[in-house]
Amino acid sequence: MTSIHREFNVVIIEDETQIRRFIRAALEAEECVVHEAENAARGLIELGTRKPDLAIIDLGLPDRDGIDLIREVRSWTTLPILILSARTLESEKVRALDAGADDYLTKPFGIAELQARIRALLRRTAQLGSAPVVVLGDITVDRIKRRLMRGEEEIHLTPIEYKLLAQLITHMGRVVTHRHLLKEVWGPNHVDDTHYLRVYMAGLRRKLETDPNRPRYIRTEPGVGYRLLDQ
Ligand code: CA
Repeated sequence: MTSIHREFNVVIIEDETQIRRFIRAALEAEECVVHEAENAARGLIELGTRKPDLAIIDLGLPDRDGIDLIREVRSWTTLPILILSARTLESEKVRALDAGADDYLTKPFGIAELQARIRALLRRTAQLGSAPVVVLGDITVDRIKRRLMRGEEEIHLTPIEYKLLAQLITHMGRVVTHRHLLKEVWGPNHVDDTHYLRVYMAGLRRKLETDPNRPRYIRTEPGVGYRLLDQ
């Protein structure tokens, strides 16, 4: 991992010692400073005093509902929040994202996945999500001219397709929920019209992906949303 910021300050709120140690080891190898909390009460103290650049919060905490905790944290800080969720709590992921979390990892997860999520969250801090020109493999997106090129060939998107892609680019590497995409692209009255997304994402994939059935850039997060990867 080369792009994680040095001396990045992280608070982990997780009751399972083994998982805390695993994350600590992965982050300390990158010279991050890691602070641990085994419950929500301790976590709030750590967040308040350490002023971290990132919080990693487990949804299954012994003393408080994780979603409730995220809501409280979000009421006073915009810091990126990565949640950890057990497979049995998958439905909670969407609620947690709606409550203000930025992304999630489903247990069990590997080091590479953890590092990729953290890199994506740090990009937001570094404002890379707002760069004028974005490269997706062999595709270049000029966000000022609203123009997509594959080599010398221009890729024509409809206005809706472009708006969808622009939302994914803004959140590059991070999950974007169905609800968020529908609200931003079609408006607040359409947040439940997920069939719009299926239709337009299929169209976008046909134009961007070499093999639309095995998308390389626009990944589906089942039951949650989509994630754009740039490689
Ligand atoms: Ca737990």
